[in-house]
Amino acid sequence: MDLRLPFHLAAGYKSASQRARIASEAWGAENLFCCNCTSNTLRRETANTHVVDFLCPACSDNYQLKSTQRRFGGTITGANYARMMSAVLANRTPHFHLLHYELPSEFIKNLVVIPRFAISPSAIQKRNALGATARRANWIGYVFNLRVVPDLAKIALVREGEIIDRRTARAQFAKIGRIEALRPEQRGWSLDVLRCVELLPSAEFTTDQVYQFVPELSALHPANRHVPEKIRQQLQVLRDRGLLRQLGRGRWLRL
Ligand SMILES: [Zn+2]
Repeated sequence: MDLRLPFHLAAGYKSASQRARIASEAWGAENLFCCNCTSNTLRRETANTHVVDFLCPACSDNYQLKSTQRRFGGTITGANYARMMSAVLANRTPHFHLLHYELPSEFIKNLVVIPRFAISPSAIQKRNALGATARRANWIGYVFNLRVVPDLAKIALVREGEIIDRRTARAQFAKIGRIEALRPEQRGWSLDVLRCVELLPSAEFTTDQVYQFVPELSALHPANRHVPEKIRQQLQVLRDRGLLRQLGRGRWLRL
């Protein structure tokens, strides 16, 4: 993997966002690989659109590349809320590559993959509707809230300018992929509880410690009035998927 983005290919373009898109899509076509299988290339799809999409030629998984000069922080702004939410629930979203580069060096500083199945419905949040006089009146956009994505599902390919071994990345992808077979609504809860478990101070913890997140989880799932029961159920789901080990009654180890 070459960490330099080929900005020279975009020399004729004035807009910074267009230059970034051209450099990052050319870079992706040369350097991106599939985390879901052993393919060491991804193929660029549908050139000349706003969205930078890639397809794995071996397993046909889709990826979307988002690049920015700032570090990815809390949220990513997206387009149509209803369409994104139905894609999440139907398991049709792409995996996301989030690429952070620096200028003027043109070097990639961070690159992570967020797998499709790690996008919880509660991570897709409505933005305010455009006003009635706007061209797309009542159109509702969304933000993808990265804060609710578990760390296990943020798979680093480059971290602070250092390339991570792709076998490590693929192993992490496979590990979080153990929840892929769950239905999306159910999986959303598993992801939310896993993130709470990651926030605890040590890998060994008790069910009571997870209950401190009841207010937060209730806010993410306002329709559910049985959050403590849901937590207990999801700890068992995560255990059955090999992401936790049960040490005893109400005692757990994060694996
Ligand atoms: Zn693949």
